Amino acid sequence: MNVHLPMRYLRLSLMGLTLIASAGHAAANEGKVQAVGSFTIVSDIVEQVGGDRVDVYNIIKSGNDPHEWDPSPRDTKKTADADAVFYFGWNLEGIEGDSARYNWVRKLLRSVDKDPDAVFTLSDGIEQKKIGIVEKNKGKVNPHAFTSPRAGLIMTRNARDALIQVDPEHAEDYKANAAALSDELKSLDQAYQRELQALPEENRVLFTGERAFQYLAEDYGLEEGFIWEIDGSDEGTPAQIKRAIRFVKEHNPPSLFYEYNDDERPMNTVADATGVEVSGTLISDDIGEADSYVDYLKHNLETIVDGLSSSGSSSVE
Ligand SMILES: [Zn+2]
Repeated sequence: MNVHLPMRYLRLSLMGLTLIASAGHAAANEGKVQAVGSFTIVSDIVEQVGGDRVDVYNIIKSGNDPHEWDPSPRDTKKTADADAVFYFGWNLEGIEGDSARYNWVRKLLRSVDKDPDAVFTLSDGIEQKKIGIVEKNKGKVNPHAFTSPRAGLIMTRNARDALIQVDPEHAEDYKANAAALSDELKSLDQAYQRELQALPEENRVLFTGERAFQYLAEDYGLEEGFIWEIDGSDEGTPAQIKRAIRFVKEHNPPSLFYEYNDDERPMNTVADATGVEVSGTLISDDIGEADSYVDYLKHNLETIVDGLSSSGSSSVE
């Protein structure tokens, strides 16, 4: 770590230090691809596929929302120096869209005049799902595709192809690492199918705060409920709570779920009003307390299966 950094900045990076698992090899950088990832899920996939050929600097540490970000001087320097910059794309890093006007990654890339050939979006080729329950969201893309292992498979392929393009000499390494990660994601895809389809049909209702699990729900046959459609200024408004309560009463799920990084109060209001309890916390836009993207997917599957298995202690009449 550079010891001449200003104090304010040092304090910020110390806060995130426990979350940086692979920061200890600064001296061994020689010859490795220097990559930057926008947030934990993107960075983990690039790390897994890159293996020991790639150093990944992750911009948004766990515990923060990737939809908006003010890059630090170090983020800017790392981005300027990187051989490859990875982000998810669409409207994930700026919910109004993927342009330098709204998207903090695009803004950052423009500020350092980054070569477009060194920039890669892991969302390429994933089929988009749209939101639009309320008028102002009509036509907007739901950016949370990575909640489904099927999107993870496409992201892995994109990371592999990008690293081969940047560092063709080590193509075989990237192919082998990507194949290993894909195998894990394929067995997770099968586990999601098997375990969610084994739930009693009337229990297959996934109710969360943000509508971050649309891809998971549609890929694996769950009915999807939520309080707000996308993180932003309106989270838990009276109109949203009213619609949420109506949905929960109508569908009567065995339990509700918090989301990591979200305010729990709107969900508690829905739980109190319906008598349906909250059974666990799902992770959406962040690896959270999981060790990797694969662990994140396992955590979510286990939490959903636990919460939806029984007929629950729901007291809805
Ligand atoms: Zn989100």
